[in-house]
Amino acid sequence: MSGASRGAAPATPAGRPRLTVLSGPSGVGKSTVVAHLRKAHPEVWLSVSATTRRPRPGERHGVQYFFVEDEEFDKLIANGELLEWAEFAGHRYGTPRRPVLDRLEAGEPVLLEIDLQGARQVREAMPDARLVFLAPPSWDELVRRLTGRGTEPPEIIRRRLDAARIELAAEAEFDITLVNTSVEAVVSELLALMRLS
Ligand code: 5GP
Repeated sequence: MSGASRGAAPATPAGRPRLTVLSGPSGVGKSTVVAHLRKAHPEVWLSVSATTRRPRPGERHGVQYFFVEDEEFDKLIANGELLEWAEFAGHRYGTPRRPVLDRLEAGEPVLLEIDLQGARQVREAMPDARLVFLAPPSWDELVRRLTGRGTEPPEIIRRRLDAARIELAAEAEFDITLVNTSVEAVVSELLALMRLS
């Protein structure tokens, strides 16, 4: 099986790496795609978000996320330290601004893996960013993946499926769609978009 892309990538200003934003419904496989991509290309810098949700088994502070309390997250917002932030399924998630800007200024390829609301904010703040939508092969497949993860209680899965319905409807707002039929195919398409293949 292979991935499929819809839509055309907009022109890249010569020589300057752009911010790439990977978004798409919860459960579609964004983290798996990002993990594979970074294994092949460790030079891609992945932003580590702050979140108020609790770590899942195996997740570590400063690696998958900075796990913070509500008060700490309030401070990050108040001090203007987040490039974007959003509430998702009962928790808040946000991208620390400074590291992203520093890496881009240093000429490094930067990748954000965030939800739809965050992608919209990045588009406003940085119109140059490339927004990539990762779509599931089908709705049934997305339900299967979200339910099969086995890490969340039914109420949380229901909220994530509600969010997924809304996120899927926003596909047209993105520069390009990659359909996640195979991780390898999506990774190579993403690398080509980032001019790293
Ligand atoms: P999870 O709890 O499954 O790790 O993430 C839930 C959702 O939050 C995913 O769609 C993920 O892409 C999104 N997310 C993770 N970090 C951020 C962030 O910094 N900002 C925004 N807006 N969404 C994020």
